[in-house]
Amino acid sequence: MLDARKFYINGKWVDSHGGDDLQVVNPSNEEAIAVITLGAQADTDAAVAAAKAAFPLWAQGPKGDRIAALERLFAVYKERAEDMAQAISQEMGAPIALARSAQVGAGMGHLKNAIETLKSFEFDRMLGDHAPSERILMEAIGVCGLITPWNWPMNQVVLKVAPALAAGCTVVLKPSEIAPLSSYLFAEMVDAADIPPGVFNLVNGDGPGVGTQLSVHPDVDMVSFTGSTRAGRSITKNAAETIKRVTLELGGKGANIVFADADEDAIARGVHHCFNNSGQSCNAPTRMLVERSIYDEAVKTAKLVAESTSVASADADGNHIGPVVSEVQWDKIQGLIQKGIDDGGKLLAGGAGRPDGLNRGWYTRPTVFADVEPNMTIWREEIFGPVLSMTPFDMEDEAIEMANDTTYGLTNYVQSQDMEKARRTARLMRTGMVVINGAARSPGTPFGGYRQSGNGREGGIWGLEDFLEVKSVSGWE
Ligand code: NAD
Repeated sequence: MLDARKFYINGKWVDSHGGDDLQVVNPSNEEAIAVITLGAQADTDAAVAAAKAAFPLWAQGPKGDRIAALERLFAVYKERAEDMAQAISQEMGAPIALARSAQVGAGMGHLKNAIETLKSFEFDRMLGDHAPSERILMEAIGVCGLITPWNWPMNQVVLKVAPALAAGCTVVLKPSEIAPLSSYLFAEMVDAADIPPGVFNLVNGDGPGVGTQLSVHPDVDMVSFTGSTRAGRSITKNAAETIKRVTLELGGKGANIVFADADEDAIARGVHHCFNNSGQSCNAPTRMLVERSIYDEAVKTAKLVAESTSVASADADGNHIGPVVSEVQWDKIQGLIQKGIDDGGKLLAGGAGRPDGLNRGWYTRPTVFADVEPNMTIWREEIFGPVLSMTPFDMEDEAIEMANDTTYGLTNYVQSQDMEKARRTARLMRTGMVVINGAARSPGTPFGGYRQSGNGREGGIWGLEDFLEVKSVSGWE
């Protein structure tokens, strides 16, 4: 079993000041694979003090130093990509092929993009020709607490660490205690990349412990959080006393509007997308709205796709889906599937329990409900498992209204070959992101939501600006 009990503080691997140990469990077989320590207050304080001490030099040093540091980190990340894929696959159950491609690749892409953004970003500029004596200086906000979830671990960690460091901030990372091994490895990479001591610090811990300690800490200037809306609310309240900046990337309940003139792969693509990463993506298209004239056909296709989706251990090759992350998540998903049945949703495929032949590990049956009513719990709550809800619609405005009728606002999807209609629909969706006809999102595209899906934007210049203060100096000339 891997001993991962140390923290990375001020450029050194150090022991905890008395925190409790926690086992990390592989969800494919329920076996403990590592032990970490949940940090104590003194550990958080030490990491924050190191970040605070390192801040002036890092923030005021030449931009070229930060570019060079991130380029060294990128080289190490690429070198250790296979180790990273193994860590992610074992800690949270992503099938190894998905871990190698999308999971590790997301981190690599974000690192590369942060470097490119930094290179062209102007931290010091004129307000405009009309006001030559006004200068705008964009300055690093300070010490940042970065709190991340388990579902796309390196995607979320790099999407915070890289722009924060690029901006000139120093950071304390608290990854998910459920999937901390990838971040442990990431800290080893930071160390190998010779990032100056104190610029990046890692303390493991849980929400009530290190997560809360960072949120209330007087020397933490900003918390950047990705995770559940529940925790985002609690962090916002805890941070209020010190008025620190809080950026939030929270849950979602993505709608996928499929018009009758959608391309022929649209339904299958939507089902696959919903099940990807075992349904554990905040931007998953979990509500499929299908124009009534193609609804019956769509329901048949969705059933077939679900029944042909295989479920297997994360270490097996192939494009199956893996287990969900933990017993807690498994229980929650089972409860919601049962609620869908009890509320009168029409179960087309899957259902409660494990798939046949898989008796150990947190495996869930790929599940599709048809004729789901908008007032049902499975239509409204984020399930975070491979569970799709389908419903028919008649009119374009009715579909848009149903899509927007949620407290979330992260990503919506639209399928139509009539581009005018697709664009019109995209404009009316109340979400931070809309994807038309399965398009791939480009590097530097902002990621984030409206309403209870959060308030920040990660990636590209938006991701960098989240970590910056804006200073205006009058009388510059
Ligand atoms: P979670 O909120 O339980 O935990 C996320 C992180 O927050 C963990 O590191 C946890 O230790 C910490 N935490 C929990 N309670 C806290 C508190 N009160 N104060 C401070 N820290 C606290 O979420 P999870 O189960 O790890 O992840 C799943 C959730 O994340 C889903 O709701 C999903 O939609 C969301 N998510 C959102 C995005 C996005 O960008 N919008 C991306 C991925 C996941």
